[in-house]
Amino acid sequence: MPQDWINIHTHRPGKGVNVVDPCLGNVIMPGEGSVYFSLGIHPMHIDEAAEEKLSEIERAAAEGRIVAVGEAGLDRNVAAPMEVQLELFERQAEMAGRYELPLIIHGVRAIPELITACKKCRSHEKWIMHGFNNRREILEDLLRHGFYISAGRHVMNEESQVYRLLPEIPADRLLIETDNSDFTIGEIYGQVARRRGIAVEELQHIVRMNFDRLFKW
Ligand SMILES: [Zn+2]
Repeated sequence: MPQDWINIHTHRPGKGVNVVDPCLGNVIMPGEGSVYFSLGIHPMHIDEAAEEKLSEIERAAAEGRIVAVGEAGLDRNVAAPMEVQLELFERQAEMAGRYELPLIIHGVRAIPELITACKKCRSHEKWIMHGFNNRREILEDLLRHGFYISAGRHVMNEESQVYRLLPEIPADRLLIETDNSDFTIGEIYGQVARRRGIAVEELQHIVRMNFDRLFKW
């Protein structure tokens, strides 16, 4: 089977296999590549409509219209109180577990809380920390708790924490994304492959194996 560009979290799909999160509004469909959807409540977008949004995610999951739940998570820099964020996050995590879907996680200054939530959640085999860019201790903690690590635009900055840590992410936990960046999926793969000292084709194979294990697509 030919390898492909698998992009596990994007708001702007392009070539390859795209898992699109429509939370930022209008998604422009790409001329090439395939599109799958994830649905979640981003902590930045928590409002009175949260219950309705949860039901919508549930319906989409039940009808097989999404391949993942998220992005969902915890963020200390947004307005919604942490208790509210936690409750919504845990309910989305529970839903992801019930439908055996991966959970795409946004975490800002709330990693300990996410790890506590992970320990509490009955099924957390498919938790993906998206846009990882944090210290080695946090990486080790996440890996110990079974998280997958998705590398995105921060890898393009060679001063970033994730760039330095890229060779330390085990191959069987690594995923790649563009999120809302201007970089193409090919550019991110190129940079990650270079930093890990492997060919792009090998990286494509690695991500494909992880994607197939996590996603029913
Ligand atoms: Zn995003």
